[in-house]
Amino acid sequence: MVDLHNYIATVKNYPEPGISFRDISPLMGDGVAYRQAINAIADFAKDLNVDLIAGPESRGFIVGSPLAYTMGIGFVPARKGGKLPRKAIQSTYELEYGGVNVLEIHEDAIQPGQRVLIVDDLLATGGTINATREIIEKLGGIVAGVAFIIELNDLNGRDKIMSSGEVPFLSLMTY
Ligand code: 5GP
Repeated sequence: MVDLHNYIATVKNYPEPGISFRDISPLMGDGVAYRQAINAIADFAKDLNVDLIAGPESRGFIVGSPLAYTMGIGFVPARKGGKLPRKAIQSTYELEYGGVNVLEIHEDAIQPGQRVLIVDDLLATGGTINATREIIEKLGGIVAGVAFIIELNDLNGRDKIMSSGEVPFLSLMTY
């Protein structure tokens, strides 16, 4: 087992002064660390009766796709607004550094009653995950859990997620 902390690059004052960006590129770039992270999430998911993995664009794809492949289940992308070719359900949310974003999921991607695990590289304020969750629940899906490689403690994203309803939670590292 490797220490995953050694595969996170901290970039001071990015994308704005005062912000320390946690860059997962070294982790994805290392086969051992990447597989260890994905396998740890798969281990968390194995008792949650998960039907589908969902991840927000774009780093949620980097976590969610190999996880879905490993688990032998499907992956549902939550894409940024205006990119999906067919009818989609959307949710608008505020970004950590100001401004708003739109996420969309094809309306036939999730069937009522399906259990969906939401994953992303990093949890900050929780806005991205709650928007993804809102769409899944609008479609009749059930959020089976949420999992992240990194959780930023000071922004209380975990509380924000739980205030929309308690769900099983995993973060592999906290900062
Ligand atoms: P939230 O919506 O929880 O405030 O922000 C989380 C989203 O922003 C995630 O999709 C994540 O990829 C991105 N994000 C915000 N801050 C960072 C960061 O420091 N490092 C990385 N890798 N992603 C971040």
